[in-house]
Amino acid sequence: MDYQKVKQGFSLVLEGLGIDPNDPHFLETSERTARAWTNELCVGLIKENFTLTTFPLDSGDHPGMIVLQHIPVRSLCAHHLLPFTGEATVAYIPNEKLCGLSKLSRVVNFFARKPQVQEHLTSDVAVYLQEKLEPQGVGVIVKAKHMCMELRGVEHSGLMTTSSLLGTFLEVPVRSEFMALAHANHSSF
Ligand SMILES: [Zn+2]
Repeated sequence: MDYQKVKQGFSLVLEGLGIDPNDPHFLETSERTARAWTNELCVGLIKENFTLTTFPLDSGDHPGMIVLQHIPVRSLCAHHLLPFTGEATVAYIPNEKLCGLSKLSRVVNFFARKPQVQEHLTSDVAVYLQEKLEPQGVGVIVKAKHMCMELRGVEHSGLMTTSSLLGTFLEVPVRSEFMALAHANHSSF
């Protein structure tokens, strides 16, 4: 990532918009914005910043579905570079490996932190967990509000739901159980 280029880019945007460069509120805006984008909003473009520790399943254990709900999603849309924010539900049925629940949040947060389309975020999380945990199946649902719909265009509340199902989650009984769990408990965001 090239901080200098990002900073120059934001300076050009301000210049192009005709913002007075001497307005005290804008004096350090390009630096501040570039720091926020490179250090926080787009850290998902940098190499994985966590390790997914796994634990072996005790022999004789046959756990069913493991579900984590209300995982915060904070991302940027690829088409307008405006935020989309909401929540993810992530579930898997283990084979031989388990992971800490908080790691599911970390995976979502890592993949969220870059400009992208919501469909890719949803499938990136599912494919990553399928590779790392080698479970019987994975299900991911993301519900997010898109500021590009709220602030421009149709100015309609842009709540979008995407899902990615792999392995046994493609089979009807598992899919139905997952969907029922995922939609049972809404929180406001
Ligand atoms: Zn957009």
